[in-house]
Amino acid sequence: QRTETDKVYIGSIDQGTTSTRFLIFDNDGKLVTSHQLEFDQHYPRPGWIEHDPTDLVKSVRKCIIEAVRKFEMMGHDASRIKTVGVTNQRETVLVWDRTTGKALYNAIVWCDARTTSTVKKLQAKKDSDKVATLCGLPISTYFAGVKLHWLIDNVPEVRKAINEKRAMFGTVDSWLLYNLTGGKDGGVHLTDMSNASRTMFLNLKTLAWDDWLLDFFDVPDHILPKVVSSSEHYGDIAFGPLKGVPIHGCLGDQQAAMVGQKCFSQGDAKCTYGTGAFLLFNTGESHVNSKNGLLSTVCYQLGPDAPVTYALEGSISVAGSAVKWLQNNLGIIRSAEELGKLASQVKDTGGVYFVTALSGLFAPYWRDDARGTIVGLTNYTNKRHIARATLEAVCFSTNAIIDAMKADALVPLKILKVDGGMSNSDTGMQIQSDIIGIDVERPAMRETTALGAAFAAGLAAGIWKSTEELCNLTVNSHDTFVPKIDDKMRKKKYKEWEAAIERSYGWTE
Ligand code: ADP
Repeated sequence: QRTETDKVYIGSIDQGTTSTRFLIFDNDGKLVTSHQLEFDQHYPRPGWIEHDPTDLVKSVRKCIIEAVRKFEMMGHDASRIKTVGVTNQRETVLVWDRTTGKALYNAIVWCDARTTSTVKKLQAKKDSDKVATLCGLPISTYFAGVKLHWLIDNVPEVRKAINEKRAMFGTVDSWLLYNLTGGKDGGVHLTDMSNASRTMFLNLKTLAWDDWLLDFFDVPDHILPKVVSSSEHYGDIAFGPLKGVPIHGCLGDQQAAMVGQKCFSQGDAKCTYGTGAFLLFNTGESHVNSKNGLLSTVCYQLGPDAPVTYALEGSISVAGSAVKWLQNNLGIIRSAEELGKLASQVKDTGGVYFVTALSGLFAPYWRDDARGTIVGLTNYTNKRHIARATLEAVCFSTNAIIDAMKADALVPLKILKVDGGMSNSDTGMQIQSDIIGIDVERPAMRETTALGAAFAAGLAAGIWKSTEELCNLTVNSHDTFVPKIDDKMRKKKYKEWEAAIERSYGWTE
């Protein structure tokens, strides 16, 4: 442990799907203080989800101001915050005007399902099967490229701005970096490798924008940000209490969690349970093309001259959002914490399975036509069973992803590291361990996404020298959940889950 005089601090912006946070870590990796704000979700039509782009920027500004205020109230000096990292909800798409700095449409959020027919149209194009081999991603409503294609097709202002060479495209990382560094008055137009690999335009081999893919999606290259590493100097903050502080880290939230969980070795894996859930598996310096419905993605590149590390990913579209749905739409819980409490009051779901496909199913199923389905209801069923079935749903989905990873011949997982809002539920994490039959390890400090962005920033700023040094930081303890059900029961339940999955298909035209 260091003394106060040789302490420096690292700020981390975590712009998530439901909330924005600014966190301040010290150079031991310890969380000092933070501020968090929720912002509005806009649902203009069934299946559509948008964010107001100005809300994203405003919430970041406010969180910085408030967290720095708390930091100073604790007796620290804001000038000791030496660098800032950014991590963000991925695949959410924005197009803005370089002359005004204003967005031309709301941000289309990653889990928005409006592009179902765009997907069909793209899949029917010649050579559409080449797409996944180049960028590692299947054509799905999920990814940024499909959403951008929709924007160009459907929003005349976007098309006009592109024709007049005024349009800038970006995912949330690019939008934030642009705004943090001055917006229309000199803001940078960049995206890091990990975010770029979610657009469908990045060639996973050359690690550059791919002309064939751009042509396939009808996207002109002059609207794209420059691709950079996840850990280098991008620019300096242009406003507020941290004016002049350099930004040195940028990672998509799931890849940031890999860094925060120190999954630096091939075979390391973590699952983050936020709005959706995402299991990433470090595949080292080569990318694996999955034959079983997983995504191939860039995990991180920690410096412009550092090698690129890849990951295989299983993405689950609905996890915490099903908890929110029980809370806001059905009203059977008043807070997210109540879910685990209710679920723990019954020993099983009484034969109920809830396929939480509220916006289709992602990995490994990839069914846009799936919708939420509850099966096995009887006179005996009550809200406790539904609560438990909601937790089980994300745990079964995680198991399906682990099975796909096994089928892709990856080293079997010995341990699953977890984080994210839903990992707060002890009952949920016990169910997870029971269903996958392996140990689940949860850190005491669960802001690992933000920690990962801080690590990336601190590495480029010279606060830490190497990933080995990060692995030696020991401030964070953890809990371990071990499996408590036998193999026979595990198999039986999973088989019933698979039968429920079959019934969720085919609910859209
Ligand atoms: P994101 O970064 O996607 O906004 P977070 O990691 O902040 O997500 O997690 C928020 C989600 O976690 C919410 O959907 C919330 O319902 C869920 N959540 C938070 N606490 C709990 C809990 N104790 N049990 C179950 N779900 C929870």
